[in-house]
Amino acid sequence: MTTEWWIDAECRQYDPELFYPDPSDKEGTDEALAVCRVCPVVEQCLQETMRIEASSHAAGRHGIRGGQTPTDRANVYRNTRSTGPERQYGTPVKGCGDAAGYQRHRRAGTLPCQGCFEAEAARGKAVKAARAAQQELAA
Ligand code: SF4
Ligand SMILES: [Zn+2]
Repeated sequence: MTTEWWIDAECRQYDPELFYPDPSDKEGTDEALAVCRVCPVVEQCLQETMRIEASSHAAGRHGIRGGQTPTDRANVYRNTRSTGPERQYGTPVKGCGDAAGYQRHRRAGTLPCQGCFEAEAARGKAVKAARAAQQELAA
């Protein structure tokens, strides 16, 4: 299905293969998630994906979409059956609220809490802006 938001999708600049890492491939998964984190249409993408995947279990969900792994999305589905697919956040723990905290959630396999997610998103956006500024200087 073609939708307008897709025009702004960050992943269009990448090989689609990147978004289908083996579930055991942590590095590949993180690489794809990093692209989603700076994507301007991450919310639309997640909602559309949740709609298409409907009630599938993790095994029926494929690829990194909307900044989430198939397992993340299966959890979102379970947690939001009555309210619709809004982004779900995990529970903050001691030391949460920065990009390092985000990485700790990922390593531990827990859903990032809101503070960590937002800190990581801000970091990703800053990196992207710096890269764009650099390219402009070089041009
Ligand atoms: S959130 Fe990720 S998968 Fe979805 S459009 Fe953006 S980059 Fe692509
Ligand atoms: Zn956290």
